[in-house]
Order: sequence, then C-alpha cells, then structure tokens
Amino acid sequence: MPASDAILDIEDIASRIRAGERRALARGITLIESTRKDHRTLAHRLMERLGAPGSVARRIGLSGTPGVGKSTFIEAMGLKLVEAGHRVAVLAVDPSSTVSGGSILGDKTRMEQLSRHPSAFIRPSPSDGTLGGVARRTRETIRLVEAAGFDTVLVETVGVGQSETMVVEMTDIFLLLLAPAGGDELQGVKRGIMEIADVIVVNKADGALKPVAESTRVDYAGALRLMRRGPDDPDGYPCALTCSAATGDGLDEVWQAICKLHDWRVAEGHVVEARARQGAIALHRALEQGVLKAVFADPEISRALRQAEHAVAGGHIEPEAAAAGIVSMIGGRSADG
Ligand code: GDP
Repeated sequence: MPASDAILDIEDIASRIRAGERRALARGITLIESTRKDHRTLAHRLMERLGAPGSVARRIGLSGTPGVGKSTFIEAMGLKLVEAGHRVAVLAVDPSSTVSGGSILGDKTRMEQLSRHPSAFIRPSPSDGTLGGVARRTRETIRLVEAAGFDTVLVETVGVGQSETMVVEMTDIFLLLLAPAGGDELQGVKRGIMEIADVIVVNKADGALKPVAESTRVDYAGALRLMRRGPDDPDGYPCALTCSAATGDGLDEVWQAICKLHDWRVAEGHVVEARARQGAIALHRALEQGVLKAVFADPEISRALRQAEHAVAGGHIEPEAAAAGIVSMIGGRSADG
C-alpha cells in the first residue's frame, strides 16, 4: 500500500472511530496491537488524527484476585450503566497472558449480557509481548475508545505482581475488589495495593456471607484510615464499601462513591494533573524501551554487552563498571552520529 493511501485510510478509520463505528474501532485496536514497524507508524498517525477527546471519560482501574467476582461485578455494574445511558468499555490487562500465552481474564464467556449490549465494548488483554507492551497497547486503546464516545472505561486486572501499578498509571480511580474473610486477618492483601486503592469493595455481601462482608469492610476501613490521605483524596476517601454483584445490592452506592470522587478530582484539577504525570511516565518508559532496543540492535554494542556479561559472570568486573563502559560506548555513538 503506498504511503498516501495509508494516510487516506487512517483518516477514514479515524473519522469512523469518532463516529462511534465499532468495526473501525476494532480495526484501530488491531492496528495498535500490531508490533509491525509499518503498523506502529500508522498507529501513531491514527492517534494523532484522533486528537483529544471532547469530554473527560471516567477511567476506572479494577483489580481483585481470581474468583473474587470481577466479571460478575463488571457485568452487573456495566449493565446498570448502559441502561442509564452510559457507554461502557471494558479493557483487560492480564499479566498471565504475557508469560504463558494463556489468560486468566480472556475467557470469552465472561460478561455475556454486557458484551452483547450495543453500548458496551469489551476487549480482552493483548496476549503477546511484554508487560510494557501490554501497557502501551492498553493506554492507546483507552484513547481510541474515548474517541469513539465511550464515557466510562473500566480497566480490569488480576491481583498479581506489577499489573496494578500499571493500571494505576493509566486510570483516574482505582477500585479493589475483595472477598469477605473471617477473623481479623487482612487477607494478606499487600500494603502496596491498599495504598493505591481509592475505593475498596467487599463483594459477595449476601446470604450467610453478609455479616462477614460487613466486618471485613470495617477492618479495611480502619486500615485505610491509618494509611493515607493524599492531596487528591477528599474527605471520606479512600473508602471501603460492601456490595453483592450477584444480587445487585450496594452497586448504586459503589457507583456513587466512584462518581463523587471522580467529579471532585476533575473539579480540583487532579485528573488533568494525574494524566499529565501518567503521560510523562509513559514517555519515559517508551524512551527506555526504544533506547534499549536501538542499543541491542547495534552489532558492536551487543557484542560488547555479551563480553561484559561473561566478564561479570566470571567475576572479572563489577556489573556497574561494565555497564558504565557500555554507556560510554553509546555516548560516543550518539556524538558520532
Ligand atoms: P472473577 O474471577 O474475579 O472474575 O470472579 P467471577 O465473577 O467469575 O466470580 C467467581 C465466583 O463467585 C462465581 O461462581 C460467581 O458466581 C461468584 N460470585 C460473584 N459475585 C458474587 C456475589 O456477589 N455473591 C455471591 N454469593 N457469589 C458471587
């Protein structure tokens, strides 16, 4: 395809996406997910053409261990929202898919009703590449769905490793879903995750589990009070609530808690600030990856790197000193170029 045709095509896809056409949206996302160099160039052009969305969508991160009820929650909450006139996009960030090719979140039978609704758009996690690659694609997909008019973007992840941090770096609000747990043990939830949660929701507050869910909520509310209140937390946040995704009890209250926080953060300028910060972080990440890729592509430098690896492994040189040698080689290169 000649370059000029590609540009025309991209114009066309961009305007169809802005018109909310699902097929164009899916095509755009496929382009974004491709790692081919020419596709990357087209994807960048597409992002440029789409420009900034007209209004601020709610970008909500949601995490919880497998079985806690994430899909049930998203299905129930999502249906409520689309019925109230919202347009809801659900994107998954699944670290398991980058490691094993398999996926915890990718199951097609999840959120069956919501996925059939014309005002909903559900996209499983990109399955190949590194965690950084998944982050990049998800960030770009958020921009695409917003350009297509989705006002609520849920970015779902499983409670493992670095994926929460990644999701926090692309959303405005972070929701942590927990299961009711007896005793005063805080379920071994990592402190780091508690620290980034804006709204903790104890799910399955129904039937025999209801009192357990309430005492779990009280435990977490207590823990949250001891933990943090940042400049972007209004009175009463972070907060802990209960709900039942199965019966729908408490879902309205959870949504109100999300909206109240989001509206406040928008009004106080925190969302704009946070997104600017997130953009800078993404820039640095992309730069690091790009520079490393360029370095490894240079035959002389990659030879030096292999030699350095041997020297370090053999104990002949300290890793930092070996790295410094390679960095000065790169410096010399850019001065030459
Ligand atoms: P995920 O792995 O986090 O996506 O969890 P699922 O949504 O697949 O739910 C795991 C199991 O918990 C399923 O058997 C659900 O039916 C059940 N479940 C989810 N939400 C609730 C709830 O609010 N109450 C009860 N009692 N069960 C629930």
